[in-house]
Amino acid sequence: MLVISGPSGAGKSSICDEVLRRIPGAHWSVSVTTRARRPHEVDGRHYRFVDRSTFEAMVRAGELLEHAEYLGELYGTPRQPVLEAIGRGEVVVMEIDVQGGAQVARQVPESIRVFVLPPTMETLRARLEGRKTESEALQTMRLAEADGEIAFARNGGVYQHFITNDILEDSVQQVIRIVEQETMPK
Ligand code: ADP
Ligand code: 5GP
Repeated sequence: MLVISGPSGAGKSSICDEVLRRIPGAHWSVSVTTRARRPHEVDGRHYRFVDRSTFEAMVRAGELLEHAEYLGELYGTPRQPVLEAIGRGEVVVMEIDVQGGAQVARQVPESIRVFVLPPTMETLRARLEGRKTESEALQTMRLAEADGEIAFARNGGVYQHFITNDILEDSVQQVIRIVEQETMPK
């Protein structure tokens, strides 16, 4: 299980997209969320978009491996597809926040957990702005979360690997190298 976390705009999705293309048999864990779909996102592929009551029913039924609230929206990882992919021997890639990362670390200690840092906070701001998927107010709220997320990642003992996403290609190669090292027979 490969967990990728990091502040919004750090480049997690960009890295995951490429890693998924390049690792044969890698499986993307499609999260469920209550947040609104972005124009380019496809329901069932990027996320499964659900309303709050559906999400809460999934939590009650024990269908989620982990779940968390981020800026008032709920996000979670459906358990069954992850277990099935692991059963097939696939590398499961999940992009989740630091609260989810901590839950996975407890439940699946052998998971590989990578935290993606931006080169600078100004770069983070510029990337979020450049992505144009959130209003200015939401960008500001997401940026305000970043310091706490980074402090938690640095001090929480959840992440074994930190990468600074400066050049995308370098970051992709670093993640692939981490997966290769960690999945090599010891
Ligand atoms: P996240 O998934 O962490 O929120 P994204 O992958 O959506 O971040 O990246 C945020 C924006 O920054 C996107 O517009 C993306 O194309 C861009 N981006 C990602 N990585 C890099 C990079 N290494 N250099 C420049 N731009 C990047
Ligand atoms: P976004 O709205 O930008 O797609 O995601 C916002 C935050 O929610 C990011 O930190 C992202 O990693 C996190 N996230 C996405 N899916 C999940 C999930 O299934 N579980 C948890 N805990 N966080 C998630």
